[in-house]
Amino acid sequence: MDDFFAKMKKDLGISLNDVQKKAVLHTEGPLLLLASPGSGKTTTIIMRIGYLIKQKGVDPWRIKAVTFSKASANDMKERYVRFYPDLQPADFSTIHSFAFEVVRNYHRQMGISFRIIEGEQELDENAARDENIQMNKKLILRNLFKSIVGENITEDQMEELTTYISYIKNKMLPREQWSTVSCDVPKAEQIIIQYEEFKRADQNHILLDFDDMLTICNEVLESNENLLRLYQQRYDYILTDESQDTSLVQHSIIEKLVSNHKNLCVVADDDQSIYSWRGAEPAYLLEFKKVYPEAVILFMEQNYRSTQDIVKVSNQFIKRNKNRYEKNMFTENPLYKPIEISNLINFKEQSKYLVKELQEEEDLKDIAILYRNNSSSIGLMNDFDRAGIPFYMKDADNRFFSHWVVQDILNFMRMAFTDKRLDILEKIHLKFNGYISKQQMNALKQLNTNDSVFDNLLKHVKLQEYQVKLLKASQETFKEMKEMKPLKAIRVIRDRLGYDKALEKTCKNLGFRIDTLIGILDTLEEIASDLESLEDFAKRLRHLEAVLKRAKRMKGQNSVTLSTFHSSKGLEFEKVYMIDLVEGIIPSSEDRTETGLMEESTRLFYVGMTRAKKQLKLISYDYRDGKKAEESLFVADVKNIINPPDLSSPKGIITQKNIRIKKEIGASDREKVNGVPYNPNAIREKEAIRAGITVVHRVFGTGEITNVNEEFIQIKFPSKEKKLSIKACIDMGLLELKKKENL
Ligand code: ATP
Ligand code: MG
Repeated sequence: MDDFFAKMKKDLGISLNDVQKKAVLHTEGPLLLLASPGSGKTTTIIMRIGYLIKQKGVDPWRIKAVTFSKASANDMKERYVRFYPDLQPADFSTIHSFAFEVVRNYHRQMGISFRIIEGEQELDENAARDENIQMNKKLILRNLFKSIVGENITEDQMEELTTYISYIKNKMLPREQWSTVSCDVPKAEQIIIQYEEFKRADQNHILLDFDDMLTICNEVLESNENLLRLYQQRYDYILTDESQDTSLVQHSIIEKLVSNHKNLCVVADDDQSIYSWRGAEPAYLLEFKKVYPEAVILFMEQNYRSTQDIVKVSNQFIKRNKNRYEKNMFTENPLYKPIEISNLINFKEQSKYLVKELQEEEDLKDIAILYRNNSSSIGLMNDFDRAGIPFYMKDADNRFFSHWVVQDILNFMRMAFTDKRLDILEKIHLKFNGYISKQQMNALKQLNTNDSVFDNLLKHVKLQEYQVKLLKASQETFKEMKEMKPLKAIRVIRDRLGYDKALEKTCKNLGFRIDTLIGILDTLEEIASDLESLEDFAKRLRHLEAVLKRAKRMKGQNSVTLSTFHSSKGLEFEKVYMIDLVEGIIPSSEDRTETGLMEESTRLFYVGMTRAKKQLKLISYDYRDGKKAEESLFVADVKNIINPPDLSSPKGIITQKNIRIKKEIGASDREKVNGVPYNPNAIREKEAIRAGITVVHRVFGTGEITNVNEEFIQIKFPSKEKKLSIKACIDMGLLELKKKENL
């Protein structure tokens, strides 16, 4: 046994600590390993597999290592191969792929055929016409929504509805309780009831989505003795990583599989639970002893991954959550560089800044750029591609290029080249201010000429009086557009042709999120900004779409990783940039409405921070597309942790001097801001202003803050108490913290 650990140390340079060793050695019976990020959970699981195979002679295929995404299954397999290049791999898989096997086996035995209605063959227009793919989950839901609610389902509603269904299934809620789950989609309960019936309408040929795979697998293992025995006998050891994201139905499947030997090793960190919206059940871990009274529970708090700078701040940061196991992550790793916080002047600077930073790097492989929403990647991709910076994107999102807003803009541009195509007009006639009605479109279709659609409308179709002028103007605008630079053209489409207004109306009617759509238009403008012609623009979009496809295959090459926070779970990089850290994104406005959501986005931020081994850089900005953006509350939190406003920071924690806040202020601004001399020590964040602290006001001198509300602070100066505008104090840099030693 000691030989095993000694060999591991010699071969891999990893000397396991006592708890890790215990976890490796405790092979028989249930074990729960609750541990902080970077404490070696995954490492321990892999070592345990090695130990089972090498020391205990277990057949690799009798060890099942369950992960909850394909990516983590691959990541684990890769690490395993690195650790034990000579050993056969254990059975690494996702819970879904295991469930699929059980479901397939069961249906085969029962002589029932089935079709999976979710997955790779996601919807696009062509697929929708394919008869087989008519049985796609989203199409079915779309049709049900239409027939039950009487309207077209919006993308947001679809997302909400599928999440609602997953949630119900993963929580194993019985039908009576479906109505207790809140869902903003009208008649959601009725829709799911009919959806379930629809899938089972043909008893000999049923339809299954991914959630069914889990629930049916669980039911089969419950009711079918033979199959239960078959799978129970197949594995002698089961291990699950990232178990904080396991749902009840998944736990239940695993419980059944191990119920004879109970050789189960569960590894989790409740602070990294980021899938509760999909029905993950971290609270199950609290019950572990109830399910397995003989279980051993081990805790690990030592982080081996990150520098002291990162570990200390992250550990403090996660404590803003109240609903958690109390833990204290620590590290023996040295200090290296403080967390860097950049507050850029605007959104555009962000990718410029990243390009500049990355151009100075020799090896991009160990660098990641993390963001909350996939949409953050498109603009980056455009700039990185231009700068020749190779990147890898695991969950590249092709939806941007096929999004209807992008298609609309391209159709407007096509119209600029020829205004004879009725098919194009048909697609956009409701989206600009010609106000062409359905009847008018129909009348137009009856004409069989190859003239300009506008000429035809004006000559042959009955129009409202106000339309005549508008249509003439639009016709002119489209003509002019042909020669415009694409950025100008997009602006003209949005303003002069009234596309933005039309979008607003669509949003009101159909419940789309206007911000998302405007975001897409802004991204298109960014892409267009340095292009000369409309053709170039269309070409550029096609090129970027190809680049995106390629980006999925760039893994392991000298390329920077772009990833969402969610997909970065379990991974580590030398250097991590967390970007778009502004209010509305993280936390989102929805997060702000509920403690549970707020805590989940805190955990998401924490997952991001704890990916970094050596350097962590947080980026926010003041403006985006001309609108004021506000630094994320979480960044403000990190600042406060690094540099507590009352300056009572103990030695060893980074102080004001070495935290680099890059406020990009022009040289002249530095000297005077709003006519007031620039004070580098002035309080610049609202969060730093709290009742009870002592400040120095540039004009009134030293005083104590007695009250703070949204807009005003009250400060008690020796002569009198004053009420001042917070905004003015911050913008003009009027306040400074009174240093402790001077008090
Ligand atoms: P996460 O919560 O992010 O999934 P984790 O707990 O699974 O993290 P690992 O990825 O296993 O952590 O380990 C983090 C890093 O620490 C890895 O680089 C690993 O090699 C290293 N490590 C783990 N244990 C030790 C140890 N005992 N000595 C030295 N390095 C270690
Ligand atoms: Mg891990």
